[in-house]
Amino acid sequence: MKDTLSCDVLVVGGGNAALCAALSAREQKASVILIESAPREWRGGNSSHTRNLRCMHDAPTDVLTDAYTEDEYFQDVFRVTGGETNEEMARYVIRETASCTDWMKAHGVRFQPSLGGTLHLGRTNAFFLGGGKALVNAYFKAAEKAGVQILYETQAHTLNFSNGECESVEAVCKGRKIRINARSVVIASGGFESNREWLEEAWGPSARNFIIRGTRFNEGVMLRELMRNNACIIGDPTQGHAVAIDARSPRYDGGIVTRVDCVSLGIVVNKEGRRFYDEGEDFWPKRYAIWGRLVAGQPDQIAYCIIDSKAIGHFMPSVFKSIVADTIPALAEKLGLPVDTVQETVAQFNAAVVAGNFDHNKLDDCHTQGLQPNKSHWARKIDQGPFYAYPLATGITFTYMGVKVTREARVVMQDEVVSKNVFAAGEIMAGNILSKGYVAGFGMAIGTVFGRIAGKEAAKHATA
Ligand SMILES: Cc1cc2nc3c(=O)[nH]c(=O)nc-3n(C[C@H](O)[C@H](O)[C@H](O)COP(=O)(O)OP(=O)(O)OC[C@H]3O[C@@H](n4cnc5c(N)ncnc54)[C@H](O)[C@@H]3O)c2cc1C
Repeated sequence: MKDTLSCDVLVVGGGNAALCAALSAREQKASVILIESAPREWRGGNSSHTRNLRCMHDAPTDVLTDAYTEDEYFQDVFRVTGGETNEEMARYVIRETASCTDWMKAHGVRFQPSLGGTLHLGRTNAFFLGGGKALVNAYFKAAEKAGVQILYETQAHTLNFSNGECESVEAVCKGRKIRINARSVVIASGGFESNREWLEEAWGPSARNFIIRGTRFNEGVMLRELMRNNACIIGDPTQGHAVAIDARSPRYDGGIVTRVDCVSLGIVVNKEGRRFYDEGEDFWPKRYAIWGRLVAGQPDQIAYCIIDSKAIGHFMPSVFKSIVADTIPALAEKLGLPVDTVQETVAQFNAAVVAGNFDHNKLDDCHTQGLQPNKSHWARKIDQGPFYAYPLATGITFTYMGVKVTREARVVMQDEVVSKNVFAAGEIMAGNILSKGYVAGFGMAIGTVFGRIAGKEAAKHATA
């Protein structure tokens, strides 16, 4: 391979947004090179861990039930972000999702009915057959067939600007320095969630105990480079998606199977053996994304979810075996927690339970009274052994801080100057819409919509 390559459109990244951009640029007849930091077997970024994408639809489709209108979708986004979203941009993405599944199918993605018992998303979210890994494999196959040149183990590090345009990108390809001259550049290199130093800068030392749920390759190199070149930065570095996952998970790439979904059925204590938040505040799908942050606020960023036998069968277990004991003191001992405190916490909790009609499918009337904090729903005494526990850690899914873009996916530079030939898609620009909070399936929605737009606009600019 030569040290200098040329193309109409260079796409940086190998996840959903990058692949959508590469395919769309090829549809416009542009020549396309796609560079992916990861080796082939680890390709696909966080997208390879996904399961679904949230789509608006006014009537049932072949893959989605009932209707999910623009307004309802927007209200969901509005609620989770506490109103801190760009309505015009959010509605734009939402409307564009209506055409996503057909386009995806045309590029080899297949869908399946939603799985029951997890997050109840059959109406709003289209599930990929074989998950995100099958989706990225289908897109890579389609991209190869369409003539996209793909370079693995190639990390972009420098954007060379001249007169406001990016003329070339420097990268290291399997240890060799290369330069790619491109008429347009699409940056779809994810967030900075795998960059532990950057996480620590934002969060402080607690970040050392965070586990990265997805790829190790999203180190934010391109985000830093865009910052250095005066791109407008949008969003807060501490905002992102973080869930409570099993503390025994690997440091990277544990994916969805490490999530612990029984919080609302039991109690959660910190390493001191004390409860610290209402485990039954709302339905789990609406609350799971706050628990990563809650655990991050506890000593040593660790917590333990404790349930009794009554909870078994009411949740999807994590990939790790629960820690089991016949009594609460024996369980506390196995967990290395102060036995007396845990016993006292459980006893106080049990004494505060106001019996009701337990129903995990609605906000039932089983709650506690006089506790600090109370448990609002699904509160049942923890009294039927054997008792089970899962250790919880903060699992970072992805960060929101990124670059500001226009509706054409063009990166906005300082003084609101719109870049002529640099485009961004996916996680790296999700902060334009997501300031905080999350609705399941929105990450892939943003990446698919903006990936397609970025690829098309980049190709139009390059071939004009
Ligand atoms: C466990 C898990 C489950 C999830 N489930 C869902 C779900 O079901 N639905 C949903 O909507 N969202 C889900 N998400 C979020 C979703 O993964 C992201 O929103 C989405 O994948 C972002 O796509 P992307 O293309 O921007 O980034 P990614 O898919 O992460 O791709 C970024 C790519 O850029 C490459 N890269 C990074 N830096 C460089 C560089 N300097 N040079 C070259 N290449 C570089 C990386 O190797 C990677 O290939 C999940 C995330 C995780 C971690």
